[in-house]
Amino acid sequence: MIIIKTIKELKNIIRSNKKQGHSIGFVPTMGFLHEGHLSLIRAAKKENDLVVVSIFVNPTQFGVGEDFEAYPRDLDNDAKVSEAAGADVIFNPSINEMYPEKYQTYVEVLEITNKLCGLSRPTHFKGVTTVVNKLFNIVEPDRAYFGQKDAQQVAVLQKMVLDLNMNIDIIPCPIVREADGLAMSSRNTYLSPEQRNAALILSKSLFTAKDMINKGGREAAEIKETIIKMINSEPLAAIDYVEIVDALSLNDIPTLKGSILIALAVKIGKTRLIDNIRAEV
Ligand code: AMP
Repeated sequence: MIIIKTIKELKNIIRSNKKQGHSIGFVPTMGFLHEGHLSLIRAAKKENDLVVVSIFVNPTQFGVGEDFEAYPRDLDNDAKVSEAAGADVIFNPSINEMYPEKYQTYVEVLEITNKLCGLSRPTHFKGVTTVVNKLFNIVEPDRAYFGQKDAQQVAVLQKMVLDLNMNIDIIPCPIVREADGLAMSSRNTYLSPEQRNAALILSKSLFTAKDMINKGGREAAEIKETIIKMINSEPLAAIDYVEIVDALSLNDIPTLKGSILIALAVKIGKTRLIDNIRAEV
């Protein structure tokens, strides 16, 4: 496995792989890799000849006052674990490599970004779609792997690929959880032991909601109320949002039907955590 820092070098590798007819799988990440990221790398390895993993803490997707500086970084360990999971190339550019002086081009998806996480992070998805677009142009992947953990991100990127006629398959991969249910996240490292325990209320409330649906519950308001009550019973938790939406459009649905996404964002202390669950009804 090789670590590449420049766009030029990576483009050369991509060009020679394309010439040989190799398929390219791409896993974009911000690093500090855990089993959730590694599941994407393993999935990419199964389906492609060359697996490229990008590790780039992308400043444009962080809002003012968010955790860009504090975001955890550990390239040495990332290199070790991603190689073991099947990565062939790590792309780890500097900020200046991705956004040189006088950079001025952004890619924005409109409606679908104006809900859920987009409400409390109004500039976030513009940063995501811009960096992913740039990375897609550099890596030219056949398939790109994203976690359902960031369900809105998957929906936004699917819309971007569709609207901009990109020849890239977006492959959504299931959420990887700790044994006790907590969705894995690089941000879990911010949590104290008490907060880590309190954070279990996210997955617990989602599993309860899933149970309600499995038992025939179809009223979004009722299910939402149960989730909100459970989270509010945890003193360390403060709700950002709890929404029950159509999984593709992310539009509200009062009565559950079709592919449903129950998504939530909750602050535990200063740490904002997200989680979600899918249901087919
Ligand atoms: P990040 O490094 O947080 O930007 O995440 C990089 C990719 O890993 C994104 O596609 C995430 O959705 C995915 N990911 C993060 N956490 C998980 C998880 N617990 N399970 C599955 N995928 C995840």
